Amino acid sequence: MTDFAMMIGGERVAAGETDMVINPATGRGFATAPKGGPEHVDAAVKAARAAFPAWSTTPIAKRREKLRELAAMLEANFSELMALCTKETGKPVKGYGGVGSAMEIGGSIAWMQATAATELPVEIVQDDAEARVEVRRLPIGVVGSITPWNWPLMIGVWHYAPALLAGNTVVAKPSEFTPATTLRFIELANEILPAGVLNAVSGGGDVGAAIARHADIDKLVFTGSSPTGRAVMAAASGNLKRLTLELGGNDAGIVLPDVDVKETAPKLFGACFHNNGQTCQALKRLYVHEDIYEALGAELAAIAKSVKVGDGLDEATDLGPLQNQKQLDIVKRLADEARQAGGRFLCGGEAPEEGGGFFYPPTIVADISDGARLVDEEQFGPILPIVKYTDINDAMARANASSQGLGGSIWSADLDRASALVGRLEAGSVWVNAHAAIQPDAPMAGMKQSGLGCEFGHWGLAENTNMQTVKIVKA
Ligand code: NAD
Repeated sequence: MTDFAMMIGGERVAAGETDMVINPATGRGFATAPKGGPEHVDAAVKAARAAFPAWSTTPIAKRREKLRELAAMLEANFSELMALCTKETGKPVKGYGGVGSAMEIGGSIAWMQATAATELPVEIVQDDAEARVEVRRLPIGVVGSITPWNWPLMIGVWHYAPALLAGNTVVAKPSEFTPATTLRFIELANEILPAGVLNAVSGGGDVGAAIARHADIDKLVFTGSSPTGRAVMAAASGNLKRLTLELGGNDAGIVLPDVDVKETAPKLFGACFHNNGQTCQALKRLYVHEDIYEALGAELAAIAKSVKVGDGLDEATDLGPLQNQKQLDIVKRLADEARQAGGRFLCGGEAPEEGGGFFYPPTIVADISDGARLVDEEQFGPILPIVKYTDINDAMARANASSQGLGGSIWSADLDRASALVGRLEAGSVWVNAHAAIQPDAPMAGMKQSGLGCEFGHWGLAENTNMQTVKIVKA
């Protein structure tokens, strides 16, 4: 059993108590992580504050170089981090459509490298005989980072890389469900970065709350559910922290009658079921035109029945277990309610009897509509409602009738028609014939209660800075 440690001021730190890190494929613990508390947050903030003057004045070219060294370190430790990620999240090494822990580590490297190359130049507003007016970007100070359990390392890198490049120092808190990969990464990162620049405090919601309210943290980046996001925002108001919130979604996809059903079904299946549906931007509600409703449902069910569900460490596994018991219980409850509401189960719908892990088969429910919880709420698991529509305007209205607005997609053979429709979706990211197709140089933001601010590209980097307008009067 490995005992992971927090990293504070460049030192490995234990706590009086530990949390067991559970392998969701077996339901058994395989490692421990310290159960930190507010006192560890205080110590980490102190270390980050002490490291800030030197790090923030380190030339940006040198900070870029450090990010590239972190990317190389991820490469060098790929196998260890990948296995750890699969053990704690349950996600397969390869996974359906190539979405698994290999992709998580690979994505972490890609985002680290892309961030290292991102520019945020001084903008010149005026430069004439009278004056020069510039907009400069300055580091903010200490950045707090709170991450969820579904993509623990990659989302961590999304937080840390731009914060560090901009010249901030960081106090990171991974999810109590998946602390191992992040703690190991931050331990390795401390061999590259000066002490105190990147600190880690593990523990539960109380540690997150201590970060959110801490008076000496200047900015907070939080990825997690919308209810926790609201609590974090309230707590952060004490010292008016700068906030980036990446929250939950209930993404709709609308399939027009002109698609090639056989060709489209595997893409839709991947969009919905990759990582067992436990992705913020997974496709979570599918609206299908009546002309192809039965054919597409049958095709999706056939794929669902053919995929291999099992331990993610087996390379042949397409889908692993749910990450935790609570999430499995949510999926079971939604399935029960959908059944009572008259939903027709095209596949799945029953958890395996025994085995010890948090397994649930990919499940597709037809003849269900808006008003059922499975359609209206984020399921965050391998159960997909497919809703029949006749009129495209009605489908658009239903897709938009949500308090969340993270992503959305239109699927059609007519790209002009689809791109006109996709712009009407109330979502921060929209796609034609794809879903959750993110990239490091395009911003990711949520509309409505899916978030505040954005990540990625120069837009995300700018969120890690304070804007300063400088006017030099010449005459
Ligand atoms: P969660 O909100 O339960 O927990 C997220 C983190 O917040 C954890 O580290 C947790 O310990 C911490 N936390 C809990 N209570 C807190 C409090 N009062 N103050 C501060 N921190 C607190 O979310 P989760 O279950 O870990 O993740 C699933 C959710 O995250 C889903 O809704 C999913 O859509 C969302 N998500 C969003 C994105 C995105 O980019 N928009 C990405 C991944 C996941």
